[in-house]
Amino acid sequence: MRILKTQTLRGPNYWSIRYPNLILMRLDLEGLADRPSDQILGFYEALVETLPSLIEHFCSPGHRGGFLSRVRQGTYMGHIVEHVALELQTMAGMPVGFGRTRSVAEAGVYQVVFEYQNEQAGRYAGRAAVRLCNSLVETGHYSKEDLEQDLADLTEFRLDAALGPSTEAIVRAAEIQDIPWMQLSTRAMIQLGYGRYQQRVQATLSSKTSILAVELASDKEGTKQILRNAGVPVPRGTVINYLDELENAIEDVGGYPIVIKPLDGNHGRGITIDIDTFEAAEEAYEAAKEVSRGVIVERFYRGRDHRVLVINGRVIAVAERVPAHVVGDGKSTIEQLIDITNQDPRRGVGHDNLLTRIEVDRTTWQLLDRKGYTLDTVLPEGEMCYLRATANLSTGGIAIDRTDDIHPDNIWVAQRIAKTIGLDIAGIDVVTTDISKPLREVDGVIVEVNAAPGLRMHVCPSVGIARNVAEPILAMLFPPGQPARIPVVAITGTNGKTTTTRLTAHIFKQTGQMVGFTTTDGIYIGDNMVEPGDTTGPQSAQVILQDPTVEVAVLETARGGILRSGLAFKDCDIGVVLNVAADHMGLGDINTLEDMAHLKSVVAEAVRPSGYAVLNADDPLVAAMAQKVKSQVAYFSMDPHNELVRKHSQQGGLAAVYEQGYLSILKGDWLLRIEQADKVPLTMGGKAPFQIANALAASLAAFAQGVDIGYIRQALHTFEASTDQTPGRMNLFNLGRFHALVDYAHNPASYEALGGFVKNWPGKRIGVVGGPGDRRDDDFITLGKLAAQMFDDIVVKEDDDTRGRGRGDAAKWIIHGIEEGVGHASYRTILDETEAINTALDGAEDDSLVVILPETVTRAIALIKARNPLPPVKPGL
Ligand code: ATP
Ligand code: ATP
Ligand code: MG
Ligand code: MG
Repeated sequence: MRILKTQTLRGPNYWSIRYPNLILMRLDLEGLADRPSDQILGFYEALVETLPSLIEHFCSPGHRGGFLSRVRQGTYMGHIVEHVALELQTMAGMPVGFGRTRSVAEAGVYQVVFEYQNEQAGRYAGRAAVRLCNSLVETGHYSKEDLEQDLADLTEFRLDAALGPSTEAIVRAAEIQDIPWMQLSTRAMIQLGYGRYQQRVQATLSSKTSILAVELASDKEGTKQILRNAGVPVPRGTVINYLDELENAIEDVGGYPIVIKPLDGNHGRGITIDIDTFEAAEEAYEAAKEVSRGVIVERFYRGRDHRVLVINGRVIAVAERVPAHVVGDGKSTIEQLIDITNQDPRRGVGHDNLLTRIEVDRTTWQLLDRKGYTLDTVLPEGEMCYLRATANLSTGGIAIDRTDDIHPDNIWVAQRIAKTIGLDIAGIDVVTTDISKPLREVDGVIVEVNAAPGLRMHVCPSVGIARNVAEPILAMLFPPGQPARIPVVAITGTNGKTTTTRLTAHIFKQTGQMVGFTTTDGIYIGDNMVEPGDTTGPQSAQVILQDPTVEVAVLETARGGILRSGLAFKDCDIGVVLNVAADHMGLGDINTLEDMAHLKSVVAEAVRPSGYAVLNADDPLVAAMAQKVKSQVAYFSMDPHNELVRKHSQQGGLAAVYEQGYLSILKGDWLLRIEQADKVPLTMGGKAPFQIANALAASLAAFAQGVDIGYIRQALHTFEASTDQTPGRMNLFNLGRFHALVDYAHNPASYEALGGFVKNWPGKRIGVVGGPGDRRDDDFITLGKLAAQMFDDIVVKEDDDTRGRGRGDAAKWIIHGIEEGVGHASYRTILDETEAINTALDGAEDDSLVVILPETVTRAIALIKARNPLPPVKPGL
């Protein structure tokens, strides 16, 4: 078997709303297509031997061992690959469990879907699973070395991509509070919330952290001076730049014992403490000098090391930090004790684990030396031997929670310090013999104030109670009453998405808010275009959600993007589904209308429980989505007597209908008239029924999101199907003797909708028609049939880009359709689009309507504009 294609889904998708992170592999089983697992000799045994932990997979039987019993009884290889890919990731420390496998139209080809935690690891696991299964089939085994290599590679992906412990704590808390988050760049910057209400964090630096405060905190001497001036107890000390100043400096601070440290250092680098000889002081000076130009000489304060975490002016947690050490057992050497300590699975390298491994360095040797020990010394039972002078976790120290022990006076001091330095999140290092006594009483001091303090010592202390320190950070970034989200409106359907998106955006604009929206023609913020192009996928949606000025997001959400990578957001406030019709059939393994409806229902199903799914009650496939949503439902319908709408309103539900010439909202028993269709230019004087439907959907979406009906009315008055507001959607031009209409209809349903308008035209109707070459032959026949019903005269043309078809082939099928169709249309073929349009316009009779369905809207409009059209026609002509 082999992999034909691999896709990475990152948001709610066709396969699952709950599991957004999925790998989708298209797998050709080749020779295994008609060999289920029970017919491959020894396969079951080999699989169990290679991956015994597959016993934990329940699968459809719903019990332990369920999946393996399926393998024994016979299941296809796609399904097995799915489970192996899940298991490999789980074994590499990324527990995942969701998967699906289904066959597609092509014989022997399967879609295999499985969850991932890390994208790269997920894709790797898919490849490894295929490799493993192929090997079991062909050779009866998969070598231990290969499996170990796979797991090692997967583990590396996991570690490479892992967020730091502080960031991890913050995003987990955000998830619990239902605050959306996303990674902004490879620099580990995280966005919390959406649009205008977003905040950012990078570890424990936040969008509220003052750069001035960070600069001050990282200047140890400056910090000390400010604190001393404020009456805070700090170590007596001085800064020197040359060795010959050392002796005087030691005298200045009151003699030994002293501490020597670099002026700007961190993580305990270059620090020597408890120095009591000049010789040692000189050596310490050199070590500090390696890290920084200036060197601090300070009095040494005996005591224990504490970190006080202050968030938004309040002490949230206190940890005592104990330097790396081992405790003797009377049998093992110090070296052996270090090895045993490092075997603790919580210990890793650097900052990324709960604890860090102890490494022997210069300080270790010095400390051992002083006691007359070496690494080979057998430490007496119960004796504690320090291996580091400072208590940094990153050099192997441990943390003990002391939050409940700190004296109220010290809390007050710490809170005042954070304010004095100006830090929203501060880690204050306190050396004192007893944190439960006021600092003054026991000669305790503040040795340093840290910006961006690490959280792991509080979140996972080695001893004592774990503290939820992430929550207060979120509470600071999003104080009560301040939202994290902006309203997100997502709009999908086969036809009318762009029109409805633009109208919905136009409605929200009336409220004075900054609207960000994406469409088939580009990304817009307010009245400015950010980027032109087909921007209906998740990446374009992200541009809007990440923009700090946007207050409302209205997102055209097309089939392609949902299929390719899922939605850009975990959930939305309003999900509009306009209609489901045949278009793009056969692409991406979507072969039936039901498949298509399932795909589009992703938008409805992704609506939050507090939001609304806005559904077309006149389209049975759309209306049925109400059964699957977790949100409230609002229906729109062209028929005020629609049975579904009637029942829904009886139960107090929300709806929008077209009744007696009005676009109206039904709120339970109440009828709220928005406007007469005559006065809504988009509907072309009420003659374009599908535009009425789009306007109902947009109005209902806005109303459900709380927009005042007055704004909706105002928007309907001022929104026109002009080349500016909706280029290529029902753009009507008055060319004096006759009219021309440019429209982007490109599938049977939209042709039919357009027909609804064309049939109301009093004069002769000429059509210039064609369609994208990647549609099926049948689609072209249908288009031909519909064109025959709509027009008196037809010019059949083709797109410049035939999308793989031979020139003239699409036209041939359209003509088949015209000939089969009812009606008496005459037709001719002019394959070149420009020539076809010009010929039709040149030959138009008085009072006729030339309907152009172009490949390139801008070109068609340019051709018409070259003929100097009169000012835009007003509706109701
Ligand atoms: P980090 O960034 O990890 O906090 P650092 O390199 O900034 O470390 P300091 O915080 O100044 O260095 O010092 C590290 C540790 O050394 C302190 O937490 C404390 O245990 C000890 N220390 C520093 N200065 C003194 C002092 N004057 N008296 C006693 N101990 C001290
Ligand atoms: P695309 O898939 O190209 O992005 P879309 O869904 O965004 O299309 P619009 O650009 O708004 O749709 O409209 C394209 C054409 O579809 C219109 O010009 C019209 O012919 C037709 N159309 C618009 N709304 C509807 C509707 N509600 N029902 C049927 N056809 C419609
Ligand atoms: Mg420090
Ligand atoms: Mg569109």
